[in-house]
Amino acid sequence: MNDGDFFSGTLALIDEACATGGIDDRHRTLLRGISRRLTVEYPLAMDDGSTRLIKGYRFQHNDARGPYKGGIRIAPNLTENEVAALSMLMSLKSAVLGLPYGGAKGGIAAEANKLSRGELERLCRGYIRAIYPVIGPEVDIPAPDMNVPMEAMGWMLDEYERRAGRHVPAALTGKPLVLGGSRGRATAVAWGGVYIMEEIERREKQQYMTYAVQGFGNVGGNMALILHNKNKKVVAVSDSRGGIFHAHGLDIHAVERHKAKTGSVIDFPGADNISNEDLLELGVDVLVPAAKEDQIGERNADRIKAKVVLCLANGPIDVRGSELLGSRGIVVVPDILANGGGVVVSHLEWAQGREGLAWSGSQVSQHLKDSMKRAFKDVHDLAHEHGNDMYKAAYVLGVKNIVEAMKARSL
Ligand code: NAD
Repeated sequence: MNDGDFFSGTLALIDEACATGGIDDRHRTLLRGISRRLTVEYPLAMDDGSTRLIKGYRFQHNDARGPYKGGIRIAPNLTENEVAALSMLMSLKSAVLGLPYGGAKGGIAAEANKLSRGELERLCRGYIRAIYPVIGPEVDIPAPDMNVPMEAMGWMLDEYERRAGRHVPAALTGKPLVLGGSRGRATAVAWGGVYIMEEIERREKQQYMTYAVQGFGNVGGNMALILHNKNKKVVAVSDSRGGIFHAHGLDIHAVERHKAKTGSVIDFPGADNISNEDLLELGVDVLVPAAKEDQIGERNADRIKAKVVLCLANGPIDVRGSELLGSRGIVVVPDILANGGGVVVSHLEWAQGREGLAWSGSQVSQHLKDSMKRAFKDVHDLAHEHGNDMYKAAYVLGVKNIVEAMKARSL
């Protein structure tokens, strides 16, 4: 699947959810559109004295429920279709989690790991200068996504505040704690996924012990570590260079140290190297795609053996893939529910920034847990009306909640 398929697949999801949820044609048409597509080109001064022209995006899908909200991704082959699809998923996610936000996504077409620290800082600052006119705490609040470390959010906040001429901590989320970030933000997506699994285990009265986690960045790395610390057996992890497998479980602390030293999880002593495709097809209890979109579809759905697929990445499975897994009794927890922990804690960070407060770690954890369990219940209850398909139910809930807000505005 290419980026066009990801975009058309997301439109298909919206169409299907509107049809199932009884949404009229007018609102369905509005949900298919992106309210604003900002594309910018700005100069990046390289360390060798040359200048590069960088392309950046900020796409705002729908703001009926509140200010636009969504991450920024840095990737060399980033496309408009990818950013557009991701902005739609953000609107739906905010709506499923019941947050007062719309959805947006931003991106910078660049290869972050080929830049020096200074170049990366100038890349981030230049991006904020370029999109400054369309963001702000009551307009559109960016956050980190792939290849955007927390440190970069600090530079971006500083750039925003320099232009604004005042402190505006609620302008961005995912900031370092010292600049008004929230406790628990870095691990929020992973913990959100863990709370969902706890809820599934409680309802099904059984324990899921073995996990395979695809992606070892902010989301996947933290997920693997939390699972390991909870005495779950993480038998496989991977990154963009490949994966590793050990039937008795990996020591994730040691894998982290290995990755810090070598730049990848592969060649971890005592484990077998496997491909990312192999990882998806392992016979584990729970498969956690936590890397990128388009990992499971018609082409490989029949080879997935996990009992539960917990989608922490955005868009890792398409409609057809989810249907095929569902028909084999595999539980699919969709992205717009499973990875909602990030935007839940971003919402807290935004609220703390507006009020000048700092919540304790335990307050944040409790709120995150309550929010994830409530959203899970909403989706799970609705799934009873839709053949116990949580994937379908989440999208129906998302479109319904957005359309309700549109109607309240007479849109
Ligand atoms: P990250 O950049 O920190 O990590 C991404 C990881 O995926 C890295 O380990 C990278 O090596 C690996 N990877 C990249 N391409 C891969 C491939 N083709 N196969 C296997 N692994 C690959 O990014 P992140 O913040 O952890 O985001 C991961 C996913 O979670 C993305 O889909 C993102 O949109 C989603 N997400 C992130 C957040 C957040 O707050 N960071 C919130 C919600 C959803």
